[in-house]
Amino acid sequence: GGDPYSDLSKGVLRCRTVEDVLTPLEDCFMLDASTVLDFGVLASIMQSGHTRIPVYEEERSNIVDMLYLKDLAFVDPEDCTPLSTITRFYNHPLHFVFNDTKLDAVLEEFKRGKSHLAIVQKVNNEGEGDPFYEVLGLVTLEDVIEEIIRSE
Ligand code: ATP
Ligand code: ATP
Repeated sequence: GGDPYSDLSKGVLRCRTVEDVLTPLEDCFMLDASTVLDFGVLASIMQSGHTRIPVYEEERSNIVDMLYLKDLAFVDPEDCTPLSTITRFYNHPLHFVFNDTKLDAVLEEFKRGKSHLAIVQKVNNEGEGDPFYEVLGLVTLEDVIEEIIRSE
């Protein structure tokens, strides 16, 4: 097919990495896996305005599930449903990318896959101990598109 991107956009997509455009972990709206879906929590989810909400255990860097806003369609706040009941039922897959992945590569991933959100991780080998995966934040199709628009 045709080529929708200008040379400038292509350059930007080839040079910049997901680390340049991600939403840092500390700015992410997330839920603890032990959360109970009472009225207050449901209201805060709606308030956040996000469609996909990472669910973590113990610490925010330990993302174990993804909650989609539409998973809440049949949840009654009166029931105080445990979040884990919902995440276990829908069991959405998690997608990870490395921090140094170029935007053109992650755009291809997003086009191929079903999800338009990925968790960004890096290999941290700065300390004395063994290297470990460190979660830096989230990247979505929107973040990539924004970068294309900025370059036009
Ligand atoms: P919508 O799906 O309604 O378009 P959204 O915020 O859920 O909105 P995107 O449009 O893909 O999802 O992303 C918009 C911006 O919000 C991006 O910068 C993305 O990184 C960020 N973002 C996505 N999900 C979250 C979240 N749970 N917490 C914080 N930021 C998020
Ligand atoms: P999601 O928001 O979960 O990604 P979606 O179908 O609601 O899925 P898009 O991903 O933006 O929204 O759109 C996917 C395709 O579905 C597009 O071709 C869009 O035009 C079409 N679409 C969106 N909403 C409707 C609708 N209410 N009825 C029929 N087609 C729709």
